[in-house]
Amino acid sequence: MIHRGSCLCGAVTFEAAAPLRPVVDCHCTQCRKQSGHFWAATSAPHSTFRITKDEGLEWFRASPTANRGFCRDCGSFLFWQAEGEDRMSFAPGALDGPTGLETGESWFHEDAGDYYDPAGGPPPRLTDTPSLLHGACLCGANRFTLPGPMGRVTACHCTQCRKTSGHYAASFDAHESQLDWQARHLAEYVTPGGGRRGFCPVCATSLFFRAADGSFSVEAGCIDNPTGGRLAAHIFVEDKGDYYALTDGLLQFPHGE
Ligand SMILES: [Zn+2]
Ligand SMILES: [Zn+2]
Ligand SMILES: [Zn+2]
Repeated sequence: MIHRGSCLCGAVTFEAAAPLRPVVDCHCTQCRKQSGHFWAATSAPHSTFRITKDEGLEWFRASPTANRGFCRDCGSFLFWQAEGEDRMSFAPGALDGPTGLETGESWFHEDAGDYYDPAGGPPPRLTDTPSLLHGACLCGANRFTLPGPMGRVTACHCTQCRKTSGHYAASFDAHESQLDWQARHLAEYVTPGGGRRGFCPVCATSLFFRAADGSFSVEAGCIDNPTGGRLAAHIFVEDKGDYYALTDGLLQFPHGE
């Protein structure tokens, strides 16, 4: 069986032959910023993995030990390549069709955001109510502040969010005019529905989504702790990937709320 995947815009495509490694969740700061919430990855040896279209492919070296691959056109975060390793890790959320995969390990809980439980339980009680939130991309080309606390956070499992985040997304509502940018180097991708998603073209950090109707949300993963936020609901679970379960007891909506 050949698994095929792509970024949201289709400028990067790849394929890998089964069997793939069980999915690992990673809550490290780098994965949180690039995915917008936390990342998930499966992997395959290079002998069975192939990038079939690389028109939009860009790499960002976030640490000396690994390169992170993404689409410069739509910002989808797709690949993680450890230096010298004969395997490619890639996002199961980018795969088309059923994956048949299961989630196994979960890493870097100590770096997880404070608005959810990385172990999959109910989100912790709010302890902080910061009056100012600090957002930044991984490379520092984008930095902003906005009034806090983060408040209610919504996880979205729609196909678009799965492709761009590599897993699923989490965001909170904000007023765009209240974002105070200290550094700004943005790319915006116009989604099929007419919304625009803002991301860093250098490091692929997922920053915000401006819907076609003007409503605006900020990706929870780009905010540095503490947030004063709390995950409250899952939306578009009808489009959810088959390789993970939602165990936090929160409200689930098949489509939007
Ligand atoms: Zn793309
Ligand atoms: Zn950046
Ligand atoms: Zn979505």
